[in-house]
Amino acid sequence: MDKHNILKNLPGVDHLLKLVKKDARFLDIPRSVVVESVRMSLDTIRKDILSDIDVSISDDAILANAHVLVQKKIKPRLVTIINATGVVLHTNLGRALLCEDALNNIKTIAQSYSNLELNIKTGKRGIRYEAVEDLICELTGAQSAIAVNNNAGAVLLALNTIAKDKQVVVSRGELVEIGGSFRVPDVMSKSGCYLKEVGTTNRTHTKDYENAVSDETGLFLKVHASNYKIEGFTASVTLKDLVILGKSKNIPVMEDLGSGTLIDFSKYGLPPEPTVADSVHSGADVVTFSGDKLLGGPQAGIIVGQKETIDQIKSNPLTRALRIDKLTLAALESTLKLYRDEKKAILEIPTLRMLTISFKDICKKADMLLKTIKKDAGSLADIDFADMNSRPGGGSFPELNLPTRCITIQPHKMSVSKLEIGMRLSSPSIIGRIENDKYILDPRTIQNGQETIIASTLAKILVKK
Ligand SMILES: *Cc1c(COP(=O)(O)O)cnc(C)c1O
Repeated sequence: MDKHNILKNLPGVDHLLKLVKKDARFLDIPRSVVVESVRMSLDTIRKDILSDIDVSISDDAILANAHVLVQKKIKPRLVTIINATGVVLHTNLGRALLCEDALNNIKTIAQSYSNLELNIKTGKRGIRYEAVEDLICELTGAQSAIAVNNNAGAVLLALNTIAKDKQVVVSRGELVEIGGSFRVPDVMSKSGCYLKEVGTTNRTHTKDYENAVSDETGLFLKVHASNYKIEGFTASVTLKDLVILGKSKNIPVMEDLGSGTLIDFSKYGLPPEPTVADSVHSGADVVTFSGDKLLGGPQAGIIVGQKETIDQIKSNPLTRALRIDKLTLAALESTLKLYRDEKKAILEIPTLRMLTISFKDICKKADMLLKTIKKDAGSLADIDFADMNSRPGGGSFPELNLPTRCITIQPHKMSVSKLEIGMRLSSPSIIGRIENDKYILDPRTIQNGQETIIASTLAKILVKK
């Protein structure tokens, strides 16, 4: 038969849709999805025939193909994955995991009406971010606070409120770019401010800020160098000194802490990061930080500072555009509450737990992971321990290496890169990394119960050639 005759003999869409009705595989699938998939399946076959590819035009073959397409369409796009990278705050993998209290509160608030914007006492309109304002002030020592969508939004909003049409003085060593196109100079221009760079990349002095002051100056801004470190012959001006200069020149001072923390990590063997309370105490007018970095809460941007400035921010129309949603607010309130008892916070907030876990406990996790993997896949690869380093990630603790004990896997019959791809493409996706031609799994970010999934997936992939 020539191609055109084969095409003529192709079953019609209506005929196929009648068959679909009696086919259990398509039960409960939205009709629009089924119709689209059957059409696509037919199209593919038509194209194959025209390209002289030998294909079956039976009803069964077309419906089987349609079923594959249906499965693809109904599969969720946002899925959970297993983070075996050891990077605790991995922006690509969703940053902070929420604590139990936050998850429960999201459910409580989401499935019911709430007082989101109702003042129950007066019966009048209430203010949504008041749910967290007192708590943030209590934990940071600030006079006032507001939470918005994210820290990029917080910076934009603060700059726009305080220094629109004015110059903002920033050290050249602090013109940060973090991932996902947040660049200080770009946010500055979008907020309607003019960037006034001072100092040099490695050294900036108080007199550099002082010399930059003119009638146009609206703000001194300090930006926490979240993801890099300038080393060697360096100098920078402390927030405290900048506040003193600001006071004498009548210029407000803001600090973007990026990943602000509420606890002093140096107590747990990590290098000291400035706490939000430190910055507030230094006398900054405004301090901004993220909700889902070291705080370990939901995506949010928190702005704290002097009442007068925060009041201005609250009445900026941009605040409405950047407002925090009620699910985030519910999660944020619950997460913040845990900080009233630091021990509890460390125990219950996953980010803090993963960052402060002792080396001894990491070794225990590694032991268990190794045993589980060896049981399933011991004959298919060389599997061993290696003492390495994890990275905190998320623009916190640049350059810090956290000692960890990883599992290394060297497949007998397959390349390491093929193993990495196989793990990533499996369901659930498992994200490890390759180092020195070995596949590496870091137990720090592997959650309890995921060991068996990792082991069985490894075994399944390693037997393939
Ligand atoms: C991460 C970061 C931001 C952006 O915070 P998001 O919460 O991701 O919007 C801004 N500034 C600095 C210095 C940061 O590290």
